[in-house]
Amino acid sequence: MIPDILVEKLQIARSVAVLTGAGVSAESGVATFRGEGGLWKKFRPEELANFDAFIRNPGLVWEWYQFRRKLIHEVKPNPGHFALSKLEKHYNNFTLITQNVDGLHQTAGNINIVELHGNILRNRCIECNSMFSKRILEEDKKVPLCDCGGLIRPDVVWFGEMLPHGAIEKAARAAEECDLFFSIGTSAIVYPAASLPGIAKQNGAFIVEINPEPTPVTDIADVVIYEKSGVALPIIEKKLFH
Ligand code: NAD
Ligand code: ZN
Repeated sequence: MIPDILVEKLQIARSVAVLTGAGVSAESGVATFRGEGGLWKKFRPEELANFDAFIRNPGLVWEWYQFRRKLIHEVKPNPGHFALSKLEKHYNNFTLITQNVDGLHQTAGNINIVELHGNILRNRCIECNSMFSKRILEEDKKVPLCDCGGLIRPDVVWFGEMLPHGAIEKAARAAEECDLFFSIGTSAIVYPAASLPGIAKQNGAFIVEINPEPTPVTDIADVVIYEKSGVALPIIEKKLFH
C-alpha cells in the first residue's frame, strides 16, 4: 500500500507539512460534514455554522454545538492521530495544519499545530471578543452571556468568516517551505485551506494524499493512498522507523 518512493521521501525529508480534515477524526467517531452521518435534526451544517443563523436563532445553533461538544468529550484520538504525533517527533520541522475543531491532535501529542478553523471547546463574546473562560457545561442549554451583555459563541470559524489572525499565513509558509506535504481526510473544497496543497506543489514539494475517496488534490498528488487514515498512517510511521 505504501510505495517505496514515499518511504524514500520520508527518509530524506527535512521539512514536512500535513493538512488534515474531518476524515482523520471519522474513525474516532466524530462525524464528517460531507458524507454519511452528517445531519443533525435535518439541518445541513451550512445552515447552522454561520453568523446570521446564530443571530436569528442563537438557541438552536448553541444546542447544535452543545450536541457536538458532548460527542467530542466522549471520543479519543485514533491510531491515525497517534501516528502523526510520532511523525512530528521525528522531524525538526513539522507543521500540522488542521481544519478540525475537535482538539484531538493536541490530545494525541502534536505540538506545532495550526488550527485554521478554531476550536470547538473554546468560546468568545461576539461583542467585546473576550475569551470566555468559564467552563461551558454540556448541560448548559441556553446561550451564556458575557459580562458586557454580549452573546457567547463557540470560537470556531463559521462559513463566510475570516480565519484566525496569522493562521493561514503560517500554514501557507509551511506549505511553501516543506519538501513533503500530506493532505489527509479532507475533501479539499473549503478555501483557503484547499489552496495549500497547490502552494506546496508549486514550491516543489512531494504531495501525498490519504483518503478513501478522490478529491481535487488527487490530480496533483504524487502518491495517492485510497485508505482510511487510521489504517494508512500507522503503516507509514512504522515504515519510517523500522
Ligand atoms: P469534509 O467533511 O468535507 O470531508 C471529509 C473527507 O474525509 C472526505 O473527503 C472523506 O472521503 C474523507 N474521509 C472519510 N473517512 C475517512 C477516513 N477514515 N480516513 C481518511 N479520510 C476519510 O471535511 P473537511 O474537508 O475537513 O471540511 C469540513 C469542515 O467542517 C472543516 O472546515 C471543519 O472545520 C469542519 N468539521 C470539523 C470536524 C472535526 O473537528 N472533527 C468534523 C466535521 C466538520
Ligand atoms: Zn463581552
